[in-house]
Amino acid sequence: MRKGLADGSAAARARSARRRASPSYSEWESLSSEIRRCQLCPLGRTRTHAVVYRGGLSPRIVFVGEAPGREEDLRGIPFVGRSGRRLDAAIACLGLGEKEFGVLNVLKCRPPHNRFNAAAARTCRPYLDRQLDLLRPQVLVPLGRTALRAIAPNAPPVLKAAGIPLRSSEGRILFPLLHPAAALRSRRWAERWDRDIAALHDWLAAGSEKNHTVGRSR
Ligand code: SF4
Repeated sequence: MRKGLADGSAAARARSARRRASPSYSEWESLSSEIRRCQLCPLGRTRTHAVVYRGGLSPRIVFVGEAPGREEDLRGIPFVGRSGRRLDAAIACLGLGEKEFGVLNVLKCRPPHNRFNAAAARTCRPYLDRQLDLLRPQVLVPLGRTALRAIAPNAPPVLKAAGIPLRSSEGRILFPLLHPAAALRSRRWAERWDRDIAALHDWLAAGSEKNHTVGRSR
């Protein structure tokens, strides 16, 4: 049985009231095109494509990774490599339709050698906030340590936080997971990934995100 606390904050109620309104296509396209042209940090010179988003424009859940990898950079689409296929298999298990979820990254351009660039991430951060303000998902799912830290710096380490809903200091409902790449590394991490996906499935099936119910489940 999952224990939780009903949310009563005015900020969260306001966010909830606004959340199902889709952004207009032109608003979304204008932001996406700004990101695609962006040269605000040095990664703009080394990328092939800025990687903006894939998914519906009124998603129930948005999965947030840290940065594009090689395949994402080449194709301009987030999570299309091996990790992406693992994530898509999990999304299928969650029973989410193609318009009910979205996938994006904290950093929009691939860092050389896939080394996360914290300075670039600070410069890039307003794009993430603007995307989330337009998309207004009910739940954000940070994937892995770096994404969780970027979204909720005060959250527990990802190994503790994964598989348990929590609220960020900004009032966002989060359900952290390990990065799907971890599930490809060993059987042990694959089993942990599967357990956390099952926990997310049960939490969504109970409609907990609609009631803003958060708390420790284990
Ligand atoms: S990483 Fe972000 S800030 Fe840097 S160039 Fe790409 S879109 Fe612009």
